[in-house]
Amino acid sequence: MKPGMTTVFIISAPSGSGKSTLVSELMRLVPRLRFSVSYTTRYPRACERDGEDYFFISREDFEERIARGEFLEHAEVFGNYYGTHISELDRAAAEGYDLVLDIDVQGARQLKERIPAGVSIFILAPSRQVLEERLRARSQDSEAVILRRLHDAAGEIGNYHLYDYVLVNREVAASVETLVAIVKATRSRRDRMENEIRPILDTFL
Ligand code: 5GP
Repeated sequence: MKPGMTTVFIISAPSGSGKSTLVSELMRLVPRLRFSVSYTTRYPRACERDGEDYFFISREDFEERIARGEFLEHAEVFGNYYGTHISELDRAAAEGYDLVLDIDVQGARQLKERIPAGVSIFILAPSRQVLEERLRARSQDSEAVILRRLHDAAGEIGNYHLYDYVLVNREVAASVETLVAIVKATRSRRDRMENEIRPILDTFL
């Protein structure tokens, strides 16, 4: 794959939908994918590392970067800024990799406007009850946080129509398979194949 043929895969989901597991499985199974590390102003959780999970920066720094136009998209989520730095896409393109973004609905909308060829995927839990069970099973959130996440999920789900694909996460293995299939199918699109087709055609001349 030549630079410039990079596809952005935009993945969004309400929390508790199983998105993190699916995305990490996708990254493990499919070669030439780069995970986009976002910038955020929220505080790191105990297990998170700066530069790996996020780049953790101050509000002031974030706002200066917005003013300088450094972000491909950015949004305020739960009172904190989150944004995708342009360099993530540049780096993926230079490596000949595709870029996988785990971003919210506002960011997905901005990115689709900026990069219409981007492929967007919305992950859904099969029902409210299953989502609630999954949030409780994680047992890392207080009751108030669980209720807020459920409430937020109801709002976020209404945006499914903005996405190219919707994945109902009933069972991890099947969902991973679908996610991998979406990436593979995108890579087989004719416009993505041009560079590979030409030398093949040449052998028939
Ligand atoms: P968390 O704080 O739980 O890591 O993420 C909260 C939300 O922010 C998630 O829905 C996640 O997808 C979203 N998010 C993470 N990075 C970005 C980003 O760079 N841009 C946007 N728009 N949303 C992001």
